[in-house]
Amino acid sequence: MAVDCNGGESFKMPEIKFTKLFINGQFVDSVSGKTFETRDPRTGDVIANVAEGDKEDIDLAVRAARNAFDHGKWPRMSGFERGRIMMKLADLLEQHIEEVAELDSLDGGKLLTLGKAMDIPGAVNLLRYYAGAADKIHGETLKLSREYQGYTLKEPIGVVGHIIPWNYPTTMFFFKVSPALATGCTMVVKPAEQTPLSALFCAQLAKKAGVPDGVLNVVTGFGATAGAALSSHMDVDKISFTGSTEVGRLVMEAAAKSNLKHVSLELGGKSPVIIFDDADVDMAVDLARIATFFNKGEICVSGTRIYVQEGIYDEFVKKIAEKAKSWVVGDPFDPKVQQGPQVDKVQFEKVLNYIDLGKREGATLLTGGKRCGEKGYYIEPTIFTDVKEEMRIAQDEIFGPVMSLMKFKTIEEAIEKANNTRYGLAAGVLTKDINTANRVSRSIRAGTIWINCYFAFDNDVPFGGYKMSGFGKDMGMHALDKYLQVKSVVTPIYGSPWL
Ligand code: ADP
Repeated sequence: MAVDCNGGESFKMPEIKFTKLFINGQFVDSVSGKTFETRDPRTGDVIANVAEGDKEDIDLAVRAARNAFDHGKWPRMSGFERGRIMMKLADLLEQHIEEVAELDSLDGGKLLTLGKAMDIPGAVNLLRYYAGAADKIHGETLKLSREYQGYTLKEPIGVVGHIIPWNYPTTMFFFKVSPALATGCTMVVKPAEQTPLSALFCAQLAKKAGVPDGVLNVVTGFGATAGAALSSHMDVDKISFTGSTEVGRLVMEAAAKSNLKHVSLELGGKSPVIIFDDADVDMAVDLARIATFFNKGEICVSGTRIYVQEGIYDEFVKKIAEKAKSWVVGDPFDPKVQQGPQVDKVQFEKVLNYIDLGKREGATLLTGGKRCGEKGYYIEPTIFTDVKEEMRIAQDEIFGPVMSLMKFKTIEEAIEKANNTRYGLAAGVLTKDINTANRVSRSIRAGTIWINCYFAFDNDVPFGGYKMSGFGKDMGMHALDKYLQVKSVVTPIYGSPWL
């Protein structure tokens, strides 16, 4: 299964140029002078020491963002001008695709080939999408019932705090930053402590592109300190968070207990993939494999509950076991590899504990189940059969390469089982029958339904959760609404025949 799960230091190490906080257009040390280590998940070795921001640093960054919002030109310039600067940032990012992808591979164990072909080009395109939207943010003309006229203004919400996770460092950075920039907001980004490097790199690109000082600040540091200081800050108008459901709850609490700031949450998932008897089995096997093991299972929308109808179940089990064994685990810088290491020791141990729990709960280990190699945080693609709905491996978000396979008989049973989760991020449906596809799509309580495909993200497709997967959309024109507020303006019409 594994080609090289022992570090792979032979592959190129990118140069680390930026390790300080980015506040008001400058790289600065943290007020305390403290730093923290960011580590290479291939080996567990330290890559760099990065400035450890805390409350005082968040205060400085928020002050810079507040000043840029209250007195600076970014919210006041035309949307067209903002769009031009964002286009320039997209061009600069495009010129540095390789370097940024390398930082994410090194910091997060992500496949370099995909970073270069998908993640970073995807971020470039998303920036361009929102750059194009920046001058198309309109209010409405209101038809009042009396002798008044009115209109609405869509105004930037103010200073935004973005708290982002480690599984897609650059993608998440631009998911949040791009629409917020387009609307004229100013912001403080708190990247995940596991993957701080690419955010710092992108911040200085923004300055080069012409984003004014103070508009985009990056404070690296830990969640319980820097993250908590941002979500409870009295001068932050909105928090946009992506991460675990547990931390999402803390963020919402902090917002409620401070200044009632707006909150949007993109949280965990335990997404089902429902495969009907009429599906092409080989395609279903490929999609299920991708749905669970892609990005080593570190994706909130991973499809890890695979429901297969009884007519094709046995054939599916045989084929998915073979496919899992041919999935190549190893160094993420190696183009042959399909799965790199889990992001850090904590996640690695969490996933292995869930695999143990699955065995203790009585599920059958079909394939995988162990660490891979002696060094770093590699885990074999793992599949359990005989999984029961109530088992924790079927209910909890594992965030690793672990699939739970389950059988169903009828469409009603499939819908009921798919909805038997506290989460509601996404679902996959595989069938050739349009009626089945439509019925299941409408019956599942989840924010995205992929029919005969999976992970089919696109700039224009809103993405976000139902239920305990959160609320508020990233991507698409809906994401702009998270960073806007609506003001109503009403004036009397003097001289109107009705006065
Ligand atoms: P995961 O469990 O997948 O590591 P988390 O939800 O813990 O994801 O982390 C997502 C982001 O939330 C990270 O940037 C992290 O630093 C931040 N974070 C963690 N704890 C808190 C907290 N108490 N308040 C605000 N942000 C936090």
